[in-house]
Amino acid sequence: MHEVSIALGMVDELKRIAKENNAQKINIVTLRIGKLSGIVTDSLKFAFDAVKLEHPIMSSAEIVINEVSLVYQCDECSTTFETGDIYFPACKKCASYNLKMISGEEQDIENVEVEV
Ligand SMILES: [Zn+2]
Repeated sequence: MHEVSIALGMVDELKRIAKENNAQKINIVTLRIGKLSGIVTDSLKFAFDAVKLEHPIMSSAEIVINEVSLVYQCDECSTTFETGDIYFPACKKCASYNLKMISGEEQDIENVEVEV
């Protein structure tokens, strides 16, 4: 499962963040996951909840996932729009396919709440 390797990578990142902040415990982890990132958010949450148990510093951490919408800007008319069409999105104003992605591919740690 793709999501397990992502969760493991996040655990490493969280351990680094905890160390930098002299944290005793990680309470809440907020992630930003784009609709086009290919990540199934439920699977990621499940994977994270499993791997966190091996790390006392985050074993009780809550994971919050903010899904980031797919947003494009049209190169022809500069309209910015949100779409659910991940395959063939077209500009909502002029129907052009000449688009630039603004958001939707995120897979980041947005915020970490720690106890020091
Ligand atoms: Zn347009």
